[in-house]
Amino acid sequence: MTLSQEDLFKHALNLQDPWQIKSIEFSNEEKRLDIHIDFEVGSRFECAVCKTSNCTIHDTKERVWRHLNFFQFKTYIHARVPRTECKKCGSIRLINVPWARRSAGFTLLMDSLILILAQNMPIQSVAEIIGEHDTRIWRVLSHYIPESRSVEDHSQVKVVGVDETSCAKFHKYISLFVDLNRNKVLYVCEGKGSNVITSFKEDLEKHNGAADKIEMFCSDMSPAFISGISEQFPKSSLTFDKFHVMKMINDAIDQVRREEQHRNAELKNSRYMWLKNPGDLSSIEKEMLGSLKDMNLMTAKAYNFKLSLKDFWTFNDALLAEDYLKKWYYWATHSKIEPIIDAAKTIKAHWSGVVNYAETKITNGVLEGLNSIVQSAKSSARGFRTTKNLILIIYLRLGKLQFNLPI
Ligand SMILES: [Zn+2]
Repeated sequence: MTLSQEDLFKHALNLQDPWQIKSIEFSNEEKRLDIHIDFEVGSRFECAVCKTSNCTIHDTKERVWRHLNFFQFKTYIHARVPRTECKKCGSIRLINVPWARRSAGFTLLMDSLILILAQNMPIQSVAEIIGEHDTRIWRVLSHYIPESRSVEDHSQVKVVGVDETSCAKFHKYISLFVDLNRNKVLYVCEGKGSNVITSFKEDLEKHNGAADKIEMFCSDMSPAFISGISEQFPKSSLTFDKFHVMKMINDAIDQVRREEQHRNAELKNSRYMWLKNPGDLSSIEKEMLGSLKDMNLMTAKAYNFKLSLKDFWTFNDALLAEDYLKKWYYWATHSKIEPIIDAAKTIKAHWSGVVNYAETKITNGVLEGLNSIVQSAKSSARGFRTTKNLILIIYLRLGKLQFNLPI
């Protein structure tokens, strides 16, 4: 069996009857391929409004769609699209063609390609690769991402991590909500106040979830998150993220070091050494730390409080963990090191949420990991003055969304 050129393209485009390839034009100079498709005379189509089949054609409209390149040839599909006259609902409407969304300028395969590329590279690069303006790329994303989210089911969500990230470029914050069991971004919105918790609850309910089903939350110690969670999710327990607690101790050490280095020149250039975990130190840093520790420095004392607090997170028994934290708190508050005393008092003020970790073992570590993706999403959304596009990219890359597309 030999296939004609038309048959070949009909297969490549997965065209079904009554649609046929009418003609194909190559332009080597313009590096362009134009495929004209048409339907058989006498064909009838489904009404786009009420789905009644076998409607007669009222008239047609010429349309053009950009399709996947055939090698280096920019490819366009041309067709006259019928407007059916429906006997049932009386509408005269353009039919839905099988190769493209309604009123879209790309075919479905082109949309698929755009979504795949956009998951992996900046939008500006996607625009350059396919040779279209980036506003057209954003239009595709603005259609598929909300559509896919609208059918998401969040009824099984039980453990949620929330964190905020700043978008300096937009002078705004966004808050991310993650299903910690599935490492999947559930919801992203502007702001970092307690109202973002309310807004998450509304979104959860729209996706078959329920506030009462959320057993645990993990967040930083921001008063807005704490009050929002206790008001909107009164049945869930709150665990403070251990990375935020440890960051607070690191900040305290850094404050001690900055004050002390005016008197001790040895401390210059030692900043990152104190902030690292002992296991991450280079051999030179280990040597430096060893000699500094012998000098009876306040910074070294503060550092020891960090090391002992690190052990707190290893307990699996809540009572033992709490006992340990009480001792740590006692020694920290008697350290005479102001920044350490302040940090200890902050822990005291958030006691149960810190101790909860021994039982829940949840952290926002995954969100910390997501941060690099969020950072690259920020640069991927470059050129757009709205956080809306940034939020789209975060959903696309971290939302584990399903798209109803050919590939
Ligand atoms: Zn109809």
